[in-house]
Amino acid sequence: MATRKKAVSRNVAGPFFVDSSCIDCGTCGYLAPAHFSSTDNNSFIHSQPTAEDEIFKALLALVDCPVAAIGAPKEFTSRISNDLFPIWVTENASGSVYYCGWSSKRSYGASSWLIIRPGGNVLIDSPRWSATLATQIKKLGDVKYMILTHRDDVADHERWFNAFNCERWIHVRDSDAAPNVEKRLHGIDSLSLEPGLRLIPTPGHTAGSLVVVLGDSEQVLFSGDHLWWNKDIGSLIASKNYCWWNWDEQIKSIERLNNLDVRWLLPGHGHAYRFNIGEWKIALDELIGHVSGMN
Ligand code: SF4
Repeated sequence: MATRKKAVSRNVAGPFFVDSSCIDCGTCGYLAPAHFSSTDNNSFIHSQPTAEDEIFKALLALVDCPVAAIGAPKEFTSRISNDLFPIWVTENASGSVYYCGWSSKRSYGASSWLIIRPGGNVLIDSPRWSATLATQIKKLGDVKYMILTHRDDVADHERWFNAFNCERWIHVRDSDAAPNVEKRLHGIDSLSLEPGLRLIPTPGHTAGSLVVVLGDSEQVLFSGDHLWWNKDIGSLIASKNYCWWNWDEQIKSIERLNNLDVRWLLPGHGHAYRFNIGEWKIALDELIGHVSGMN
């Protein structure tokens, strides 16, 4: 639990603060960029929330923080309700997508997502275990699948399996991180798990990285740590510094996404982004040009 005594000095004065237990995962900055910034490997409050909607966003960050490094007086935390998460994000003809919140330290605060779809609901990567979140997810229906995009983001998958008895998927090359899963994807061919729900192996960041595509058009791409959006420079990003396995293979995996029709990019880390019509291909081509020049 965050304590005032450990609050970092960069916080502007006021009720909300970040303390030194922050692991700088970036989650609070994605959720409430008007109030949270990061420097020197520690986030801080750069502007106190005052309006109701601002306080609401700061409270979302407080609940989501994987190490409880965000604090506020009880007069604010008493407003936290059980139904803060999951948050609706978008939808297409194949399903509705929610952000789960409740990030886990075990996945360095990675985002996890919930798809509500007629053929069965899907968790993409694992939030930290929360009975409160499980109850809210249950209200939206049972979870049929849990898809783990790669070894880093498996977090509390066992506890979510115990709660929902869902069928867990991971690529076989990352499956030592979750050895008891029910299903393993092999090779680099994509798999249509169900109509409008496709898994595409994208080795590179890890040997068993995969992405998930929702929909046949106007798609939602759950990209794990394969690529994400950098809001500061306004472009699609893949990181050589954070490539744990094979950068050349990661570049090939990026190129294999050029036949998609992505409207929403929802990564494990980094900013989500909504593309306008035609913008995905332009952004992907720019990224391919950039990363090819890095070799
Ligand atoms: S969500 Fe928590 S751990 Fe992550 S950057 Fe913010 S304060 Fe730090």
